[in-house]
Amino acid sequence: MRVVVRVSVAVAMAVLAAGCGGSSASPPSSAPPPSSSPPAKGAVVSLTFDDGLERQEQMVKELAERGLTGTFYVHSTRVQAPGYLTQPTLARLAQAGNEIGGHTRTHARLPGLHPDEQRREVCGDRSGLEALGFAPRSFAFPFHEVSAAAEAVVKECGYNSGRGKAGVAAEELTPADPYDLNTPLSIGSRTTLPEVQQYVLAAEQREGWAILVFHDYCDDCGTLGVKPRIFTAFLDWLKGRPVAVRNVGDVIGGGVRPVPPLKPPSVAINGSLENYFGKEGLPDCWQLDGRSATATFGRVDEPRTGRWAGRIKVTDGDPGRLRLAVRQDDGECAPKPGTLSVWYTSTAPVRFTVSRRSAGGTWSGWSEGPVLPAASTWRQATWTPKAAGAAGISFGLVLAGPGQATFDDFALR
Ligand SMILES: [Zn+2]
Repeated sequence: MRVVVRVSVAVAMAVLAAGCGGSSASPPSSAPPPSSSPPAKGAVVSLTFDDGLERQEQMVKELAERGLTGTFYVHSTRVQAPGYLTQPTLARLAQAGNEIGGHTRTHARLPGLHPDEQRREVCGDRSGLEALGFAPRSFAFPFHEVSAAAEAVVKECGYNSGRGKAGVAAEELTPADPYDLNTPLSIGSRTTLPEVQQYVLAAEQREGWAILVFHDYCDDCGTLGVKPRIFTAFLDWLKGRPVAVRNVGDVIGGGVRPVPPLKPPSVAINGSLENYFGKEGLPDCWQLDGRSATATFGRVDEPRTGRWAGRIKVTDGDPGRLRLAVRQDDGECAPKPGTLSVWYTSTAPVRFTVSRRSAGGTWSGWSEGPVLPAASTWRQATWTPKAAGAAGISFGLVLAGPGQATFDDFALR
């Protein structure tokens, strides 16, 4: 008896500690009841929903009508964005017994990113969800892309599980690796009812765990949209099966662990300008000053590496006034000082631009580095700005004459 009481207190303490990050947040509405262990016998099905898409609200209604719940892996940064579930909807969902989990800030491919960037994506997203009033225990890797280093970060950020690879193996009720939970292939527009049913039947047969992955819900909204009639027919069928339908966090068990605070990174976060907030948005961890009708910034599909590069264009007025630079923050994005580098092409000379954060937390004005020549093919520039005593720096590239510059792969060492 005593042991049970102590466990409950520990869980409650963890919830309280985790809630400290967001002062205005009400007690996490998705705080789970003390987890029960999986049934000793019998298969389990988890219904999981990715990306926090607005149309999932209709799927939630279908679940609720049948007394079912699911796990929703959302991005803290997209809550409230057009086309995504809002905070009040998610809160209502959590209240009704659904689970809110994390899915990175920008739907980033984690393998290949520096661990500091992975922490920003995973821990930063988890604190963001806490600030919105949730207490996430479960994480899903974007694109089902997993690596040992990324798994370690997901664990370090306080998650109890990571939903990982798809279509490679069936999952066990006691997973060999809770930070790489295997799932069948995502259920989309081409998935038939018998196929979805087969995922469940296979789990029944070996008393395993079928973690089903859903995204969108429609008759014609892309390959990841399940057809409403198939979803409805599946749920009706599922209700009659000898399986338990449970949220991922409840199958895995464990309480809500605190999120470790982020330390100033030693690299340029999102230096390759790959991760954006929406099509027209800014790259994560970057800020833009001086945009106008004659001074524009946009991502372009002409990368040196990856998928995107950034482009600034100034046709009139002071060419240096348009400035895309690392976000001036207290160390989530702004790195420690070092030697800067970038690859660029341009029709006009360019210069590094830099601002320094004092130990007391004050940002200096901007200063510019030496003038670098226009370049018709990719050229790498490096510069070590004086930064004695600076706790952090922000930097970017500005034009030194009217024209345009395309840049990619900012780095720091
Ligand atoms: Zn996703």
